[in-house]
Amino acid sequence: MHGRFQRASLAPKGFAVVSVQSVGEDIQILLRSRCVSGVCPDCWRPSQRIRSRYVRRPLDLPLTGRRVILQISARRFWCDTVNCGRRIFCEQFGAGVLARYGRRTPRLETIVHHLGLALGGRPGSLSP
Ligand SMILES: [Zn+2]
Repeated sequence: MHGRFQRASLAPKGFAVVSVQSVGEDIQILLRSRCVSGVCPDCWRPSQRIRSRYVRRPLDLPLTGRRVILQISARRFWCDTVNCGRRIFCEQFGAGVLARYGRRTPRLETIVHHLGLALGGRPGSLSP
């Protein structure tokens, strides 16, 4: 037999699993970042001063045939650099984990991309 199932294997790299729940037919996975600070996209200085939190809900691959609802607790930070024009910035996770404004995880995006290439867009066309 294989080893014990690890909860961390449910999460993309850099995330910690807060909880896993079965909600009706779905599986809800709550995640948070493992990083203690965010990096300002303008001045590239780290900040640990949290302004607020919000939830991102990217689509992900199903698990054992059940829809997975990812809920990522993301943070907004204050930028305290004096000569930086940005005062508030949102936590970024990197394109390999979850792209900025990304609505799908990269692993789901890869499958959708290849399905689109394989089908050539014909199923979505309106031709008779
Ligand atoms: Zn800044």
